[in-house]
Amino acid sequence: MARYRGSVCRLCRREGVKLFLKGERCFTDKCAVERRKYAPGQHGQRRGSKTLGYGLQLREKQKVKRIYGLLENQFHNYFLRAERGKGITGDNLLVALERRLDNVVYHLGFATSRNQARQIVRHGHILVNQKKVNIPSYSTRPGDEITIRDKSRKNPLIQYSVETISGRGGVPQWLELNREALSGKVLALPRRDQLDPNIQEKLIVELYSK
Ligand code: SF4
Repeated sequence: MARYRGSVCRLCRREGVKLFLKGERCFTDKCAVERRKYAPGQHGQRRGSKTLGYGLQLREKQKVKRIYGLLENQFHNYFLRAERGKGITGDNLLVALERRLDNVVYHLGFATSRNQARQIVRHGHILVNQKKVNIPSYSTRPGDEITIRDKSRKNPLIQYSVETISGRGGVPQWLELNREALSGKVLALPRRDQLDPNIQEKLIVELYSK
């Protein structure tokens, strides 16, 4: 499947915010956004800061798309489904993105980044309700139990990641982690107030509604 292969720090610098795409490094002073607070490229330092209207909407969409590591078509499909669902489209969109299995694995601390979480899922290290699921976009439900399969429990990447989860902000309220058992549970679907307050999903809805 096609995917972005360039520098991920470049994506953060383009959006001007930390998107936490590189695991541990994002929490150190080696973070590229901290060291170079301007957009990448030859004209990065010359770009004005006045982004308005369409530009603002586009940047917000790109930001969220990049946080979850999706391509344009995948992201647009999430939006179309969110639009068809009951309730507020922006909320539906964010909840659908959050309940992706790779995102849940990341939040439970089994991986230090969503990218790594996706790889862990693809490589078959994850069980959902005791069954192997290797589809990163799998949509989790309240009550789902997410476990590391027995053979992978000694995987140093997973072990290190779980041990250091507190340093990355801990596990969100809508999930529960059993560190010793290397398992987690989806307690409920996330509410909007439990998600990133810096995301302005309204701008994304406006962009796609044109
Ligand atoms: Fe983004 Fe992390 Fe790179 Fe910082 S270290 S620029 S947050 S990917």
